[in-house]
Amino acid sequence: MSENMKFTQPPLPYAPDALMPVISPVTIDFHYGKHERAYIDNLNRLIEGTKYADMPLERIIVESDGPVFNNASQAWNHIFYFFQFNPSGQKVPGGKLMERIEAQYGSYEEFQKEFEAAGASVFGSGWVWLANDEEGKLSIIKASNADNPLTQGLNPILVFDVWEHAYYLDYQNRRPDYLHKIWDIVDWSVIESRYPF
Ligand code: MN
Repeated sequence: MSENMKFTQPPLPYAPDALMPVISPVTIDFHYGKHERAYIDNLNRLIEGTKYADMPLERIIVESDGPVFNNASQAWNHIFYFFQFNPSGQKVPGGKLMERIEAQYGSYEEFQKEFEAAGASVFGSGWVWLANDEEGKLSIIKASNADNPLTQGLNPILVFDVWEHAYYLDYQNRRPDYLHKIWDIVDWSVIESRYPF
């Protein structure tokens, strides 16, 4: 009997109260502690004894559908989301990424407005992504449910979670306020490190 690979939940690289007042420790407790945890636990249970059991997570996302896809993608999306924050991180983009943002959107501020508007207009549960193609061109992508730009052959570099569980405890129905405040904790050195140009 072979031992299956199990995905484990990586610990957060900051304290549960470090993202205050943008994201509260109560939201961290539920969103990271219960929602992210459940996606990873469900994924491990669903892939046990299947062809997915020994695949890297990114390959499961590209090759699966249904419940396996939903839980694999949500596991990946949440790990990616929580690792882009640092309250004392780099506040604005720099380098090649900033050049590309300015070339495509005019300015960082215009890009932020467009990204927030895209996130605010996702109907129901989902995500708003910034991703690049193989030439480095950026796209803002509205995604429903668990969808991830990896399935379109794109490289995700930034994401805001717009499921209600991401903001309801702190902002209630005010999704646009959450989208506007969350820039304060994004560490652009992390986002730049995900942009391979
Ligand atoms: Mn979430």
